Amino acid sequence: MKPSLTGIILEELADFLEKRGAPSYRAKQITDWIYKKRVASFDAMTDLPNELRAELAAESDTPNTEVVRVLGSKDTTQKFLFRLRDQNLIESVLIPASPALYGQPSDRRTICVSSQVGCAYGCKFCASGLEGWTRNLDAGEIVQQLIAVEQKSGEKIDNVVFMGMGEPLANLKNLLRAIRIINAPWGLGIGARHITVSTSGLAPQIRELANETTQFRLALSLHGATDEVRSQIMPVNRKYPLKVLLEACDYYVAKKGRMTLEHILIAGVNDTEEQARELAKIARRLSAKINLIPYNTVKGLEWSRPSRGRQERFQSILREHSVVATLRREKGHDIAAACGQLRLQTKQAECERSDRVSDIEHVAIGNRADRRQRSWGSWRKHGAMRVIKVKLRG
Ligand code: SAH
Ligand code: SF4
Repeated sequence: MKPSLTGIILEELADFLEKRGAPSYRAKQITDWIYKKRVASFDAMTDLPNELRAELAAESDTPNTEVVRVLGSKDTTQKFLFRLRDQNLIESVLIPASPALYGQPSDRRTICVSSQVGCAYGCKFCASGLEGWTRNLDAGEIVQQLIAVEQKSGEKIDNVVFMGMGEPLANLKNLLRAIRIINAPWGLGIGARHITVSTSGLAPQIRELANETTQFRLALSLHGATDEVRSQIMPVNRKYPLKVLLEACDYYVAKKGRMTLEHILIAGVNDTEEQARELAKIARRLSAKINLIPYNTVKGLEWSRPSRGRQERFQSILREHSVVATLRREKGHDIAAACGQLRLQTKQAECERSDRVSDIEHVAIGNRADRRQRSWGSWRKHGAMRVIKVKLRG
């Protein structure tokens, strides 16, 4: 696959053009077509010579992300499911910060974007991790989510959070490139303070980011304030236990000033008073604010959210320890807004549908075992079997 058009960087384009003897003003002209006028192909760039258009087209692909489903309404959380060039599915969520409860327009629109197809980190509570990792998104595919959502919703995006599918720091090169484009005045022009990357805690990359010049905010998905609890729900904690992770965070905070902690509240797992007290210690050590997020139930997973009273008790313990903690009133619970859920639902539905039709033949690579004998999750996890063709007989 060629890189996508929406992953083009002004400075690199200028070099490319210079080597071909094209005038330097062309670079800005082209990025304006891509990021301001938002055309989807070089053919539409009518003020460029044909020859140059052809040369550019040989280097980059048009984005071609098809919107498969949109859930939710204009005034509330909207969820977009995209099919990529290679048929993989990813999702983005558009969240109004102040839903138009009193008739006023919402003032800040946040997009939650995906950084990978699937996720290799397999957190026990997360729909994205259920099926394993398929591939990294390139920078253009990340940026394209913003462009497509703005086009489809008619809304202007003010905030970007990398909290969709995937572990952004496991796709660091493409992530940083996408952020450069999102942030640049010649790109989408969204301020660095309005771009947040969430990580499950890849300690080496957190250290690397401390020395990175690209600006954005960092949020750490802690979810467990002791190794015992964190390892139970996040396998990554065995690789980078709290001691290693928090030392990397100390280093990051010393260099960059701050980070935020995220703690999803799962009933009976990480919502105890002891967890709140341990979490307060970590927050104080890192001078971090905490976002408490009531767990969004995922079909097929056993976890649930604590009662509102218990959520508030957890928050008040943090406050008693002088830690700033906000308790998010979750949005989009009813439309499966937690990362990876819509994709999972769609794939499950497609799978169930095809299971019901007896004369569908699934042609699989490597392992031809009848997939109907396996549950959806275990079937997909045996990754060598990838359906390449679904053929209707007769
Ligand atoms: N991989 C990164 C970013 C994507 S996940 C990370 O883990 O931080 C973004 C956030 O959504 C994480 O804090 C994650 O723990 C949270 N999340 C995942 N599934 C959720 C669910 N079912 N309910 C609430 N939050 C969830
Ligand atoms: Fe991956 Fe983040 Fe989900 Fe964990 S929570 S499986 S790291 S997307």
